[in-house]
Amino acid sequence: LVSRKKKAEDTVVDINGTKIGNGELQFVMGPCAVESYEQVKQVGLALKEQGITLMRGGAFKPRTSPYDFQGLGLEGLKILRQVGDELGLSIVSEILTPQDIELSLDYVDVIQIGARNMQNFELLKAAGSVDKPILLKRGLAATIEEFINAAEYIMSRGNGNIILCERGIRTYERATRNTLDISAVPILKKETHLPVVVDVTHSTGRKDLLLPCAKAAIAIGADAVMAEVHPDPAVALSDSAQQMDIPEFHSFMETLKGAAVKL
Ligand code: PEP
Ligand code: MN
Repeated sequence: LVSRKKKAEDTVVDINGTKIGNGELQFVMGPCAVESYEQVKQVGLALKEQGITLMRGGAFKPRTSPYDFQGLGLEGLKILRQVGDELGLSIVSEILTPQDIELSLDYVDVIQIGARNMQNFELLKAAGSVDKPILLKRGLAATIEEFINAAEYIMSRGNGNIILCERGIRTYERATRNTLDISAVPILKKETHLPVVVDVTHSTGRKDLLLPCAKAAIAIGADAVMAEVHPDPAVALSDSAQQMDIPEFHSFMETLKGAAVKL
């Protein structure tokens, strides 16, 4: 169902009027994790200034270590919803379990399925059974074919509003946190009719690479760019090394706006 052979036209995912996949470049920005109302509000205000309507933020965090911050859970979703309503932003947030899909419907505008859950088939089926856009991230070590099949799980249950997200894959290279598989973008766009987002934060794990990788993503045809923004990354409870602070975010956006025209 996700194949271009089944449907030649691009799928455009409409999130409260913001369209991903119609040829216009979109941005999904926000903190790694929701930490407080104040933190989310500050980031939301910065997004508004840049005309961005899609705010990300993790309430349920799938951390490598069980001793690391696991997220605020439902409280985090409530904060996202509150700030989203106050500022007119749409909320993108990761849901970890099939049981929480139903609960999330009242709080999020896009359900994110994280890299670690790309082949959690029960979660994919649950996401496929609701009427809510899904942002599906590529697994840490998933082939493009496996990634496409994960999207097929969702669509085969009836939910066709899927955004694919390339977020880097595990390779032998240690200079970056993951290896951004930039050629996955045109391959996914050729093989499927779904929109593609590139997450420059989790793929690189390096602040100095966010801008060049975002430029590459735009040049190669990504429909949207995702990156993390935190008011004070030094004290962030997760991904503190690679989140942009607010002035860095503004300069990132200004540079890309200039670059996008030239490309
Ligand atoms: C995230 O986007 O918050 C995240 C945890 O990313 P990934 O699933 O790609 O590691
Ligand atoms: Mn993160």
